[in-house]
Amino acid sequence: MDPLEDLRRKFPGKPRSWLKRALERLGDVSEERGYYVVRGRPELGDRYPAYHVWWSESERRWICTCYLTEWGTRRARGVCTHVAAVILYREHKGALRRAGRVYLATGVVKCRERPRAQGEALVRQIPGRTLLDYAEPQWKIAVISGQDSAEVECGGRRIVLKGVEMDYAQARALAEEFLGS
Ligand SMILES: [Zn+2]
Repeated sequence: MDPLEDLRRKFPGKPRSWLKRALERLGDVSEERGYYVVRGRPELGDRYPAYHVWWSESERRWICTCYLTEWGTRRARGVCTHVAAVILYREHKGALRRAGRVYLATGVVKCRERPRAQGEALVRQIPGRTLLDYAEPQWKIAVISGQDSAEVECGGRRIVLKGVEMDYAQARALAEEFLGS
């Protein structure tokens, strides 16, 4: 989903420049215990090196230190781009966590040339023993991707390897173990 479109839905009536500013701040957000810190940027009109953003249970809304300082009560009724960036960050993090699930597909294939696949493909040639092995070498291939099966391109042929779902760190460790074995 287009994050700008997503923001527009959340904050209807805000001008495009405001939405873009919020998006630009996404990389400036860091998480602390119970609150967020948004790095201040003079080019975005910030006067302080950092802003704190937290959820106020009593007010049922997000509060930013800029409401208490430079903008005063006028801004306090609205939403600043620091808060918008934090809201975006929180959703982005959720998406990243979901994307953390990947599939690992492994196999041994015979190909004249080094096999290729979409995604992160780890390939190792198995040392040949006979002349035939040299004509058409065997390869170990491990593919980490978002798809539940991997299509391996093998010298003009396509070989489909079924994947197993797991988290990325596990997939990476198993892939290396498979290649090394
Ligand atoms: Zn703010």
